[in-house]
This record gives sequence, C-alpha cells and structure tokens, in this order.
Amino acid sequence: MKVFTSISDFQSEIKKRKAQSESIGFVPTMGFLHEGHLTLLKKARQENDIVILSIFVNPLQFGPTEDFSTYPRDFERDRALAEGEKVDFLFYPSAEEMYPNEPSLKVVVQDRTDVLCGKSRPGHFDGVATVLTKLFNIVMPTRAYFGLKDAQQVAVVGGVISDFNFPIELVPVDIVREEDGLAKSSRNINLLPYERKEAGVLFKSLWTARKTIERGERNPDKVTSLIREMIASETSGQIDYVEILTYPRLKPLVNLESTFIIALAVKFTKVRLIDNLILEI
Ligand code: AMP
Repeated sequence: MKVFTSISDFQSEIKKRKAQSESIGFVPTMGFLHEGHLTLLKKARQENDIVILSIFVNPLQFGPTEDFSTYPRDFERDRALAEGEKVDFLFYPSAEEMYPNEPSLKVVVQDRTDVLCGKSRPGHFDGVATVLTKLFNIVMPTRAYFGLKDAQQVAVVGGVISDFNFPIELVPVDIVREEDGLAKSSRNINLLPYERKEAGVLFKSLWTARKTIERGERNPDKVTSLIREMIASETSGQIDYVEILTYPRLKPLVNLESTFIIALAVKFTKVRLIDNLILEI
C-alpha cells in the first residue's frame, strides 16, 4: 500500500493507472476506522482493480461549535487496518494541502438541506459537497462507496454526481452495527460509559417504529412520537431531530407509503449520534 500526502504525486500515479484502464473503487473517510469503513473497503476490493481510501478530517464540514478538534484520529492504526483490507493507495492530505489558499469557489447544496442534519448543521453539506468535488476530481474513481448511516449524505452525493456529471457510480452500503444495535461510528468513543449503555436505545426505537408500521400504523407523527418517547425515557440524550421523509428526495409525507427514511439525531455530553432506517411499503 502506498501512502500519498501530496495531491500532485497522487494524481501522477492515478493517471498512470487510468491509462491501463483499471477501475478505481474509492472510499472517502475521516479516519479512525471501524468495521463500517472496512465493509466499504471490502466491497470496493471485490468490485475494482484498484482501491483508494482517503482519510481527511475536513474542517469545512464542521460548524464553529462542533467537534472538529475532538474528532478521534489515529493514523498508524488506520494505516494498519487499510493494509489489512488490501487498499492500494491511501490518500492522507493535510488541510493545507487540500485548502492552500482562501478558496475562490465553494459548492452550495440547494436541495435536501432544509431537513435532518442539513437543518441542524448549517453549511455542513456545502463542506461535504465541496471536499467531495475536489476528491472526485483528484481520484477520478469508477465507483464511490458511501455508508447509509449517513443517508442524507448519500442522497446529497447522488445530487453532486448527477448535477456535475461525474462519471462515477455511487454505491450505497448498509449500516454496520454493534451487538446492541448502535450504528458503528468513529464518534462512539466519545460517549461516556453510561451513555454508551443507553445508546442502543436509538436503534431499539427505530426497530419498535418498524414493528408498529408493520402492524399497520401509517401516521408519521404517531411513529415519530413513539420514537421520541422511548429516547426521552430511556436515555439522558437530548433529541436534535426525529423525522420521517421520502427517500432519497427527503420530502415530507402525510401517510407512510413507498420508500421513506426514519432518521434521528441525539446529542450526548460530547457527541451527537445519528441513525436511520429506510423502509419500503
Ligand atoms: P466517516 O469517516 O464517518 O466520514 O465515514 C466514512 C464513510 O463510512 C461514510 O460513507 C459513512 O457513511 C461510512 N460509515 C460510517 N459508519 C458506518 C457504518 N456504521 N456502517 C456503514 N457505513 C458507515
């Protein structure tokens, strides 16, 4: 596995490999890898000649009061895990390498950002779309792998790819969970021990919602109330949002039908967790 920190060195290597018509599977991450990331890498390994992992904690996508400085980082551990997954190239640029000057342009996401994380994290998806536009131009992947844990991100990335005509296949990957159902996340390490015990309730509440829908409930407000009650009574977390929207358009719906997402975000002492379930009826 080769590690690149310089964009120009990395691009020269990619150019050579592209000339040999090799397919490139790309997994962009912020590092502190866990089984969720490794699942994306395994899928990329199965489907492509070359696998590229990027690790970049992108300052643009964090708000001023968010956890950029406390976001967990451990490059040596990540490097060993990436080797284990037979990654070909690990791209690990510094913020100065990615943003050497005050940018003259940024990507602004106009659709699907007035809901869920877009609403509670203003500017977040502009930061995501800007860095991905840069990364897509640098890596020129055949396929890009994204986890459905960040389902709104998958929907936004779909928009970036189609609006800007990137010749990239977007591959969404199912959520990988801990034994108690908690969605794996680099941020879970910042939960206090008692919060970690409570955090399984997030998935439990989504699962209970699913059962209620399977039994015939079609009123989205009743379902979100049920989730809110469970989280409020069984955890010390503060609910940021619980919403049900069509997926991937992310529009409100009066009755539960076709494909929709039940999504939630809950703030604990040092960390805000998200989770979701996409259902089809
Ligand atoms: P991050 O490092 O948190 O930016 O995540 C990098 C990629 O891994 C994103 O596409 C995430 O959606 C995906 N990912 C993170 N956690 C999980 C998980 N538990 N299951 C599946 N994919 C995940």
